[in-house]
Amino acid sequence: MLIFFLACLFALAGYWLGKSSTIHPSPPTAAALNKNYFIGLNYLLNDQPDKALQLLIQSLSVDSDTIETHLALGSLFRKRGELSRAIRIHQNLIARPNLTVIEKNQAMLALAYDYLAAGVLDRAEQSFWIVTEDPTYRTEAYVKLIDIYQQERRWLQAIEVALRLKKHADPQISNALAHFHCERASVLLKEKKFSEALVELTNAKKHQRRLSRVYLLMGDSYLQQQEVKQALNAYQQVQEIDPDYLSEAIPKIVHCYQQLNSPDAFGHYLEHTYQQWPRATVSQALFDYYRQHHSMAKATAFLTTELARQPAPSLKSLLQWIAAEQQQEALIGDHQQQLTVLNAIAVKLLQHKPVYRCSHCGFAGRILFWLCPGCKHWGSIKPIHGVEGDG
Ligand SMILES: [Zn+2]
Repeated sequence: MLIFFLACLFALAGYWLGKSSTIHPSPPTAAALNKNYFIGLNYLLNDQPDKALQLLIQSLSVDSDTIETHLALGSLFRKRGELSRAIRIHQNLIARPNLTVIEKNQAMLALAYDYLAAGVLDRAEQSFWIVTEDPTYRTEAYVKLIDIYQQERRWLQAIEVALRLKKHADPQISNALAHFHCERASVLLKEKKFSEALVELTNAKKHQRRLSRVYLLMGDSYLQQQEVKQALNAYQQVQEIDPDYLSEAIPKIVHCYQQLNSPDAFGHYLEHTYQQWPRATVSQALFDYYRQHHSMAKATAFLTTELARQPAPSLKSLLQWIAAEQQQEALIGDHQQQLTVLNAIAVKLLQHKPVYRCSHCGFAGRILFWLCPGCKHWGSIKPIHGVEGDG
């Protein structure tokens, strides 16, 4: 394929040679090209495509008529994974003095993609930055720079470029910007830099007013500083903003109420929340609350009623109900055995099932990624609801 393609290009070079000789006679150049043309063909016939390519690059003039051919050849090599060849072609184009600025930027953009494909991210970054000077390719280069900074988790740089992109063209970048600030806040929280993290979260809110992740992180920050009431307040905002993430907030809310040692308020909150969002995570918390603060009988009665009442009860609630039933002392042997079988079936059905799914591309997994590994959208992965999920 490569040899065939180069042979075609050599034939094309021969055509250009003839054309340029006719219009602008220049005997020495024409003779040199003629010689290179036949040497090149000789390399191809002897199965030495790299030498033939080098000769072709040297022989084929680079001007506005031929640049598209060079770029097409470079792009073809990149698509075939032959990156060093693509890089050589594009570097050769950039080094030519007779190209216009636009043509050089076109070649620089192609070179940046070569480096990106080769995983040489520092050079790709450098090349994309050069291209941002050109309004024609600026937006494309900014988008690619953000991709690089996301890969390298360089959030400050990602924020800087995203702000430029927002200013120039893309109002949709706000969601990504808010998540970049959240990523930065997560790093700062690990370093226990609470006030700096709060600044990042405040900035995140400026770009995306209603983002559950901001309040989850805010709660974490307050909790780390032993400010439990403020943490609880932040976590409770999640259900108002996006109840899909309630399952992420509930375990943290339970922890806060336990720290505050206010069981009545805790029970009232859980009952009220369950009325609004009858999810498995909430019913599990409510079951535990009844068991600890009332009685096992009340907890089991609650779960039994809810399993019967829900049109599509979750397997998680069923497992909890089985565990509660199995703890009853008066259980007769047959019933115990039936529950064991039921438990094994429910466990099997839940095994290896994803917990989260991307609403954009369908990527599913058991870890909550804020940046979808499948489609690279921010905040599109959410907890799964229904029988196999959170109810
Ligand atoms: Zn996705």
